[in-house]
Amino acid sequence: MDCASCTAGIDHCHGTLVVHPDGGFAECTDDGCTDDDRVRHALIIDCHTLDAACGCVVEQHTEIVLSQAS
Ligand SMILES: [Zn+2]
Ligand SMILES: [Zn+2]
Ligand SMILES: [Zn+2]
Repeated sequence: MDCASCTAGIDHCHGTLVVHPDGGFAECTDDGCTDDDRVRHALIIDCHTLDAACGCVVEQHTEIVLSQAS
């Protein structure tokens, strides 16, 4: 698969970067992806678009509860 970035020889990824805004991290659908930097990806989606019950949200809420308790 060739795109404008392939033609230009720019380091990039053809996978979809799934961003977890509440978890503060991102992951790529391409197993061969070496860097989850957003600038390398033309396709970026929010994890909630993919899975409304993504675990990253639950984890953060747990941390908030714990910090308030202590
Ligand atoms: Zn390309
Ligand atoms: Zn998530
Ligand atoms: Zn990637």
